[in-house]
Amino acid sequence: MHNTKIIENYLTELLNIPSPTGYTKDIINYIKKELDNMNVEYKIGNKGMLVAIIEGIDKENEITFSAHIDTLGAMVQEIKANGRLAVSQIGGYMMNTIEGENCLIHTRDNKKYEGTLQTIKPSIHIHASEAKELPRDCKNYEIIIDEEVFSKDETKNLGIDIGDIVSFDTRTKITNSGYIKSRYLDDKASVAAILYVIKYMNINNIKPRNTINFLFSNYEEVGHGCATFIPKNTTEFIAVDMGCPGEGQNSTEYDVCICTKDSSGPYDYDFISEIVNICKENNVNYKLDIYPNYSSDATAALKAGLNAKFALIGPGIFASHGYER
Ligand SMILES: [Zn+2]
Repeated sequence: MHNTKIIENYLTELLNIPSPTGYTKDIINYIKKELDNMNVEYKIGNKGMLVAIIEGIDKENEITFSAHIDTLGAMVQEIKANGRLAVSQIGGYMMNTIEGENCLIHTRDNKKYEGTLQTIKPSIHIHASEAKELPRDCKNYEIIIDEEVFSKDETKNLGIDIGDIVSFDTRTKITNSGYIKSRYLDDKASVAAILYVIKYMNINNIKPRNTINFLFSNYEEVGHGCATFIPKNTTEFIAVDMGCPGEGQNSTEYDVCICTKDSSGPYDYDFISEIVNICKENNVNYKLDIYPNYSSDATAALKAGLNAKFALIGPGIFASHGYER
């Protein structure tokens, strides 16, 4: 039997490490430490991504799985005259999903300040209908820093500057009924699953038929992925990323989601058939689905010239890029 507590622990720890795209050093260090503890070989790319290598019997036809460690977030765009911060979004999401959320501002000299993302008209007692009707555009939001700062200079004196990273509270909660609710389950749920697989193989001394690479990519949310770092003997590439349950979709939170087509077109037909058969033979629940507003590390790799069979599988994540379940 599988020990789901281990996956749960991995997931909670991963969700606890802020990692908006461009700010993934801390989470890579966490993964490095885990791999070191298990004596698993790995390489780190110039762009900061990491690939763990589990040698197989066949070293000519390697299988590479990827999961992305980067998440949505924001960057300080302007220090306003009132000492508050305007932000620029990292990744694609609706601003209202983080309205009123606690955040951390990470300065270049490793200081962290707490704050809250609010609209510029946050109080119903002051702004009444204007507060309700304010368009939820990024420009109508600001960070109120939890420090006594009332001017641009005072905020600058804290050491905050343009380009500082802003991470949002994940509000991670595992309910008594077993649901996991959190921001950034995309794609940390997959990262946790992969770390567990590595641990499982390690504890049970499993040598795979083919060499398997687990690639932790760090620029997925902005689309340029990890192509040149995919080990060159890779003949099969599987992006492990979220499936999208919801209106009109076949995906669920209770099955492995297998994507047959996304905004970049169809995934490898025969390879998907193979994966479906593996699910059938091993009694793994699965659902095939099409994601019209989606692209993955697989599609990014293909656009950069990857010559391998490619697929996308993953856990079903409800309300993706919002408060996910
Ligand atoms: Zn994702």
